Amino acid sequence: MSVNLQTPIDYLKGVGPQRADLLRSELGIHTYQDLLNLFPNRYLDRTQYYKINQLQRNSAEVQIIGKVVGFQEIAQKRGKRLVAKFQDDTGIMELVWFRSQKWIRDNIKPNVPYVIFGKVNWFNGTFSMPHPEMEVLQEHENNLRSSMQAVYPSTEKLSNKGVTNKVLNKIMQSLFLETNGRFVETLHEPLLDELKLMRKSEALFNIHFPKNQELLAKAEFRLKFEELFYIQLQLILKNLIHKAKIKGFNFDSVGTYFNTFYKNHLPFDLTNAQKRVLKEIRQDLGSNAQMNRLLQGDVGSGKTIVAFMSMLMALDNGFQACLMAPTEILAIQHFQGLGELAAEMDISIKLLTGSSKTKQRKIIHETLENGELQILIGTHALLEDKVKFQNLGLAIIDEQHRFGVAQRSKLWEKNSIPPHILVMTATPIPRTLAMSVYGDLDISVIDELPPGRQAIKTVHRFDKNRLKVMRFMRDEIEKGRQIYVVYPLIQESEKMDYKDLMDGYESIVRDFPQPKYQISIVHGQMKPADKDFEMQRFVKGETQIMVATTVIEVGVNVQNASVMIIESSERFGLSQLHQLRGRVGRGAEQSYCILMTGHKLSQDSKVRLETMTRTSDGFEIAEVDLRLRGPGDIMGTQQSGILNLKIANIIKDKDILQSARFYAKRILSNDPSLVQPEHQAILNTYRALGKYKNIWNYIS
Ligand code: ADP
Ligand code: MG
Repeated sequence: MSVNLQTPIDYLKGVGPQRADLLRSELGIHTYQDLLNLFPNRYLDRTQYYKINQLQRNSAEVQIIGKVVGFQEIAQKRGKRLVAKFQDDTGIMELVWFRSQKWIRDNIKPNVPYVIFGKVNWFNGTFSMPHPEMEVLQEHENNLRSSMQAVYPSTEKLSNKGVTNKVLNKIMQSLFLETNGRFVETLHEPLLDELKLMRKSEALFNIHFPKNQELLAKAEFRLKFEELFYIQLQLILKNLIHKAKIKGFNFDSVGTYFNTFYKNHLPFDLTNAQKRVLKEIRQDLGSNAQMNRLLQGDVGSGKTIVAFMSMLMALDNGFQACLMAPTEILAIQHFQGLGELAAEMDISIKLLTGSSKTKQRKIIHETLENGELQILIGTHALLEDKVKFQNLGLAIIDEQHRFGVAQRSKLWEKNSIPPHILVMTATPIPRTLAMSVYGDLDISVIDELPPGRQAIKTVHRFDKNRLKVMRFMRDEIEKGRQIYVVYPLIQESEKMDYKDLMDGYESIVRDFPQPKYQISIVHGQMKPADKDFEMQRFVKGETQIMVATTVIEVGVNVQNASVMIIESSERFGLSQLHQLRGRVGRGAEQSYCILMTGHKLSQDSKVRLETMTRTSDGFEIAEVDLRLRGPGDIMGTQQSGILNLKIANIIKDKDILQSARFYAKRILSNDPSLVQPEHQAILNTYRALGKYKNIWNYIS
């Protein structure tokens, strides 16, 4: 008779109502299935037996075979302790109890071989083991329990109420006895054979009761693979379904706009990465399905021209295009940048932001609706109801993380067929993370900077060396350069941060006196018009120093600015530091980034600073960031469901993830509906996935 794994945990031998309640409330274990999938945190290696004369003063947990040869009670300040002499053929040591002394005296038999297990101390000239785990040697040998002992996740309440790790191990044994340890296979045979994966039942047995390290490793591999495989399968299928369902405009012709620009107006040779990405986009646009592509490229990697040339493909097919940016400054810059690229061509481009004048707006609304206006660039203002395109074919969104999906879809609610979507981001998402979260969302990467860029020199300086930094600033200004000084304003409303900024500003004004030096200041509490005025002064070169908060993080492009000084840089996250640094190094001059910090630094800050000074590769920085902060923090709570892995770790198990993805893709490309008989196990598992919260809850 096979046991149903959905059976409530109360029914398992050794559980009972009280323990069942505890297991539910403390570990979320409701059914046999849940218990089966309570994977150990670690293992105590009990494959080794030590002799007493092999013990070291700083031994970890060890197990020893020997006999108790006598008890002794020793009075101490409060109460007494019970000491047993424990002997093997190499020596003698002590076992010590401070509690449960009566039970020990009544139950531990002298002169019978025992296996003891625990941590050894060196005390009063002998080795001693307090409160050892003890088991009669003969029972130990008969036991189902393997020689590596699983250590399960636990809570204080559980152990206080007597559900110790030993108890959990016992309960797990009951489960395997009742079910005969036979579980439905969830991957298909050919794949198991090809990858030499352990079978399901064997893997589950070995994850709980591994005989040795090798079997444990195989069991772990199999279960991690399975977990990642089904996540990939789900993501890829979702994408396939999306593609099959959502028709897109077919841009089948590459026409005059694109070709004219390419032949006559290209301001520089495209990098290979830019060419590759353009090809990817072009394929999508001609595929009959809606493009949904993420374009990742570090600051300065040249995303703008890719965006522009993609827009030309839309125009060539008689469609309109738009570009939406998160801030007005950025929108203006895009408007100028695209305007320059389009200067020699007959294309109508307009800018729409919150501060566009009513009269301008009216013209934009009209020409947009009658199709005269071909490209519209702007901010959130593009999402207003009054903005109606005649035939929007391509929407480009800059700086993806600032717009929600809901906002994005507002762009095409106005159309019956959605426009193609290209999301551009300068915040590289580590590949592993992108794969796990987006699955098969199409990602293009510009992983190459245009030629001739000088690497930005990045250094870390402590506050006490400020004088030297000041001297350096003066020298750079003397050479005609401009400088950013950025303060952290984690919350623009926080008074203390604001004070730091103003204090900093005042001391800079003191050290760089007018009229020789002119200084701009920009922060979030200023009126937009004032902010803009100050920003413009810096852009025009009227001021040499720009004191600012992170409002300058996105966008500003001042080629002559070659020094970025980040104050209290230990308070910034890695991706923010990287973004800020990207504000310099845009011109031909050697640029610098100086990371100022106080003296005391946390371990994490040290890693961040070390990373920043070592590399400027955005993807590498993103990987470090991922390791420091974990995936949940980076992607936000929205996606954390997917990242809530039970056994795999997307950082450590990168290779398994890649392989799981490869095989999921291969299976789906041969059999997208999983109808072939040999894929039955996978189809069943996949179907069950929809019913339960996570992938470990389907097997029955
Ligand atoms: P980002 O990816 O940060 O948006 P931009 O598109 O603003 O980068 O490009 C940064 C700078 O590099 C711009 O001044 C742009 O003209 C220049 N640029 C882009 N592509 C190339 C290229 N292939 N060769 C030379 N310069 C380039
Ligand atoms: Mg840009």
